[in-house]
Amino acid sequence: MSRSAHPAGPRHADVLPEGHPSAPPADLNHLDRKVWASTVTRTADGVVTVGGVEVTRLAEEFGTPAYLLDETDFRERARAWRTAFGADADVFYAGKAFLSRAVVRWLHDEGLNLDVCSGGELTTALSAGMPADRIAFHGNNKSVEEIETAVRVGVGRIVLDSFQEIVRVAHIAQSLGKRQRVQIRITVGVEAHTHEFIATAHEDQKFGIPLAGGQAAEAVRRALQLDGLELVGIHSHIGSQIFDMSGFEVAAHRVVGLLKDVRDEHGVELPEIDLGGGLGIAYTSADDPREPHEIAKALTEIVSRECERAKLRTPRISVEPGRAIVGPTAFTLYEVGTIKPLDGLRTYVSVDGGMSDNIRTALYDAEYSVALVSRTSEAAPMLVRVVGKHCESGDIVVKDAFLPADLAPGDLIAVPATGAYCRSMASNYNHALRPPVVAVRDGEARVIVRRETEEDLLRLDVG
Ligand SMILES: *Cc1c(COP(=O)(O)O)cnc(C)c1O
Repeated sequence: MSRSAHPAGPRHADVLPEGHPSAPPADLNHLDRKVWASTVTRTADGVVTVGGVEVTRLAEEFGTPAYLLDETDFRERARAWRTAFGADADVFYAGKAFLSRAVVRWLHDEGLNLDVCSGGELTTALSAGMPADRIAFHGNNKSVEEIETAVRVGVGRIVLDSFQEIVRVAHIAQSLGKRQRVQIRITVGVEAHTHEFIATAHEDQKFGIPLAGGQAAEAVRRALQLDGLELVGIHSHIGSQIFDMSGFEVAAHRVVGLLKDVRDEHGVELPEIDLGGGLGIAYTSADDPREPHEIAKALTEIVSRECERAKLRTPRISVEPGRAIVGPTAFTLYEVGTIKPLDGLRTYVSVDGGMSDNIRTALYDAEYSVALVSRTSEAAPMLVRVVGKHCESGDIVVKDAFLPADLAPGDLIAVPATGAYCRSMASNYNHALRPPVVAVRDGEARVIVRRETEEDLLRLDVG
């Protein structure tokens, strides 16, 4: 990601691979506010607390590994997005980042809308009382059943992703005697990476309908002709873990360009534009994410400017942050099991979870940080790799980090910023039991997703 190849600390200078932390932090006991949920703090006796509850108590009561979610922080972040975008825009939380009924209720309380991309996510949202008209349905291959359910319950919008789907949704809506509000997802030829973006003419990916070659314009043409559809806008989602707003600038420019062409060809000004999600968070101290109000200001200005130029009424903007809301609000609590120093290399610290509760390191080469949270230590820093207990050498949770050299089995360590795409991507690899999500607030902890049990596993095994 963003780390430069600074020389390593003296002890490790010639053996470290690229991408290692440049040097141990000055104080291993210090918790960097950037990567920890807002109520996380270390008490005078050295134990870390979240929502006023000590992690040692949480480990005793709920076991490890566990995802500990700071409800206050979640609500604050959701509210910050809502407030930043104001009454003229909509914030859709991307449910795929992490979805549970408690989360749906918090979002509902805080005035956010919700993105789902499967029947399962839709059912979860509805069962927790999210009104259907505040739900958007996404996906590049929605099943007929999923579309039927979405249309029947009256979701606020379905985001159309292909030419087949334009026809499919139109037919289903018509057969149910409905007119479905839809947006068309287009690809604008912007490849967004964490710290840079590339503008291209074509986009080689499965999502969306390319703007290039007039395909998106053709999709609009077809959607406007179908009675079952009410085309309300254009959708673009350019990537994830993005810090650089210039990718959105190019995307907005191109989407507004399409709106202008639509106006010129059909005399219709589409009233909505969705710029997707993808805003980055701090996984390590090296990341500097933007605040929701800065993002809102930048995006609104870009869209207004482009529309003014094109002499279009400014459409209603929506955004779809997932990671930026839930990511920083949770950390994973692990117990240290074994410690294996490899001379001249690093020390392997094995925890009681791994790639089954956090696949992002193996899947995306993601970077994380880690801290000893059950006590403080004045011992020297030791270069570690935090690994799981799975039968796979790529089962890495934190590639390179520093922990105190007196680390011992039984210590609790925590990996921050695991609220997004960890529990939602968790697996039963090696028949691991997926960890619980425990919400903590004002001195109280409650399970919002319980730990799996061996009975849960055997229940599915009907052979
Ligand atoms: C994944 C996704 C999001 C959310 O992305 P984050 O990186 O979690 O903000 C938003 N919109 C769409 C269409 C997505 O696929």
